Amino acid sequence: MSTFSELGLKEEILSALTDMGYETPSEIQQKAIPQVITSTDDLKAFAQTGTGKTAAFSLPIIQQIDVDNQNVQAIILSPTRELAVQIGDQIQKFSKNIRGLKTVTVYGGTSLEDQARKLNRGAQIVVGTPGRTVDLINRRKLKLENIQWLVLDEADEMLNMGFKDDLDAVLEATPETKQTLLFSATFPREVEAIARNYMHNPAEISAGTKNTGSDNVSNEYYVVTERNRYAAIKRIADINPDIYGIIFCRTRRECQEVSEKLIADGYNADSLHGDLSQAQRDNVMQKFRKKNIQMLVATDVAARGLDVNNLTHVINHKLPDQNEAYTHRSGRTGRAGNKGVSIVLVTNREVGKLRPIERKIQKKFIKREIPNGEEICKVQLFKLVEKVKNTDINTEAISGYLENIYEQFEGLSREELIQKFISVEFNAFLEYYANAKDINDTRESRDRDDRGRRRDDENMTRFFINIGRKDSLTPPRLMGLINDQNITNNVEIGQIEILDTFSFFELDKNFESETIEAFLNNAPEFEGRSVNVEITKKRRGGGDRGRGGRGDRRPRRDGGNFRGRGDRNDRPRRDGDFKGRRRDDNGGNRESSGRSDRSSRVQNKSWGRRRD
Ligand code: AMP
Repeated sequence: MSTFSELGLKEEILSALTDMGYETPSEIQQKAIPQVITSTDDLKAFAQTGTGKTAAFSLPIIQQIDVDNQNVQAIILSPTRELAVQIGDQIQKFSKNIRGLKTVTVYGGTSLEDQARKLNRGAQIVVGTPGRTVDLINRRKLKLENIQWLVLDEADEMLNMGFKDDLDAVLEATPETKQTLLFSATFPREVEAIARNYMHNPAEISAGTKNTGSDNVSNEYYVVTERNRYAAIKRIADINPDIYGIIFCRTRRECQEVSEKLIADGYNADSLHGDLSQAQRDNVMQKFRKKNIQMLVATDVAARGLDVNNLTHVINHKLPDQNEAYTHRSGRTGRAGNKGVSIVLVTNREVGKLRPIERKIQKKFIKREIPNGEEICKVQLFKLVEKVKNTDINTEAISGYLENIYEQFEGLSREELIQKFISVEFNAFLEYYANAKDINDTRESRDRDDRGRRRDDENMTRFFINIGRKDSLTPPRLMGLINDQNITNNVEIGQIEILDTFSFFELDKNFESETIEAFLNNAPEFEGRSVNVEITKKRRGGGDRGRGGRGDRRPRRDGGNFRGRGDRNDRPRRDGDFKGRRRDDNGGNRESSGRSDRSSRVQNKSWGRRRD
């Protein structure tokens, strides 16, 4: 294994690395640093998050910067403000012993004039988010005519976040002669297109296998019903008292709901999403880094900037829309040589969505059972015993009370005393989990009726389409038509019902508005007829066969609305307190009610159009 000095780095950099505790270069650093120092070829690098990418591209650039020249020589683009700030900070630390080397970080949401002033004072390295960088270029505050290096960090994320036009603009504003370094954890088509269009015969390096998940992460899944998603998170947290992780949600609303419930239930949690002001986000991140928050409920985008290396868990409250995002999510744990667990909560019908992810990460998901009350109580009990054993005694502070306390406990044996002290805290857990039901969804064929047809499902929305058998529509042709609209990756198609002149189909409820919009925007034709799609009401009783149909007779294994104690929100707080308030703990349902509000707006709009 090489050392940093064998990679050809100069003394000023080596001493800074030593101060930062960097002893051995990581794999990506071993490959990228000598390549960029010795060659001006473009570089495509496949690297997971947390593998040391920042040093891999920054160190060889710092090494070669001409400090006597005040022009911008390197521009580094990164998807989020947090990541840009981190990169800027890292570069300042790497270059602290190089006199005259200046770095400026530019990002949105803060004064453009301040950043322009800093640029005006001269900087050889600029780190920026795409939007603000383009803004500064357009205002002639940032001049990239002379740059020698352009780094695209987390290129896949930048494209996912809709920065394609900004990237194109920056690439156009830079000279042909520059060396482009493209770093990405995944290489979807869009990233390949950037490489094809803007890079010349790039050298390729990779740390780990392309598009695969980290070997340090165990990928696990739990099967739950929609209504038990939140209860499952609580149990996972309770069986892992030292959990330190991120719970990923797809939307801000979902984030807010999950975190509000966790906080109300006495967990050490908070949320991080785009609706927060920058100051609020900074505050939450700071608390999380200091471990004042154990569980951070975050959207994919908001979590990008978090540089925390010792997360024990990542929990996917719901699967991401894009499979690539799973690689990013799971890559938040198992960093810097640590082990981690990435958990996915799926409903019975979502299990199939794990297969394409498995192919992408080239790892198998392990099925896990949501722990029952007894297992959780056992873990909590021994955690408590451990805590008591490790508690330091502040003799000075309690000595004045001891005599009186000993008197009060006179007559109790050692065993009785231990039992009483342990019970003070533990009874709350025991009581909370007494009679807690099994929340694993073990139903094999929940979604199919006894002839193998899909049953109605609360997670699906039923759509009307104005073509039918008379138009030669068949289920496969309808599925083809739906897929052609590119609604989103892997959208799940449910029950299809072809009638003479019109038909119905079901799609994942989460993509209701996307479905309507896709059909409106694409305006597809089928056998010469223009296609019209609208959301339609499901029949009462859940089934498609009308009242008294199979849907009405579906047995309710959970006994209707009954909820065991373990699913109420009166979970004991960490401080041993009881929660008095009891609320519905069904995050999924609350979210879906929000979504149906939205869908009813979409529906009205669509009916309106039809009448037009
Ligand atoms: P990055 O992938 O650049 O975000 O780096 C992930 C984390 O690993 C950061 O906290 C770095 O400071 C740390 N790191 C990167 N390279 C090394 C190294 N060679 N030795 C020790 N820590 C490192």
